[in-house]
Amino acid sequence: MEKRLKATLELLRELGFEEFYSSLDVPSSNFPTEGNNYPKQSSKEQPTSPLEDKSKNKLFLLKELYEKNKNCCKCELCKSRSQIVFFDGNPNSKVMFVGEAPGEEEDKQGKPFVGRAGQYLNKVLEKIGLNRNSIYITNVCKCRPPGNRKPTPKEMQTCLNVFLKKEVEIVQPKVICCLGATAAEAFLGKNVKITRMRGQFYPNPLFPKTKLFLTYHPAYILRNMREAKTFEADLKKLKEYLNTLEIN
Ligand code: SF4
Repeated sequence: MEKRLKATLELLRELGFEEFYSSLDVPSSNFPTEGNNYPKQSSKEQPTSPLEDKSKNKLFLLKELYEKNKNCCKCELCKSRSQIVFFDGNPNSKVMFVGEAPGEEEDKQGKPFVGRAGQYLNKVLEKIGLNRNSIYITNVCKCRPPGNRKPTPKEMQTCLNVFLKKEVEIVQPKVICCLGATAAEAFLGKNVKITRMRGQFYPNPLFPKTKLFLTYHPAYILRNMREAKTFEADLKKLKEYLNTLEIN
């Protein structure tokens, strides 16, 4: 299917339809592809066109969003990045995990949560039966802040408007799990005491149809391992809620 699509696109390019070709171009290295972590279609299923298949349609729209903004320089953070770090995982997931901003390893690889904190998160997700490939994961800001500083409220607001709000509109998750206070503040628009507010669901002022769930950032747990059990318990609670959505 993909080969035929590519051949058609090549033909269109040769015929002079450059713009159409570029909007559907082969994904760049920091865009998840069906070959690695995107769920594969069973061989028994009938092939469908990208616009007929809901999950592929979301991937298509995310690709468009990425292509449109891959050179974004609407805030200061474009000066400190190597590349934009978009998302990883499954665009058809009911849950979207959102962290603060990419770190050094993410900036190098072009994927969110691939450093030590991401590897630790993967382990906890595996332990509670939530596969990394079954979730959608991203950050509020898509560019690495210098020295890994916290993004400013203005930078977060700008990037929310460029990427994250549109991602939520496309993915339509049932729950957004904010990893750490900074991500929670971006959605709630106020200071968050994560130790007090974690482990609970909240209404989402930006997206009323999507609940917010707050927990620690995995990087915080790596520095404070005494909170590891609490973090695991929070994610188990989230998983139990997701299970109820599957039953209904
Ligand atoms: S952080 Fe977001 S808004 Fe700022 S330059 Fe990067 S992509 Fe653009």
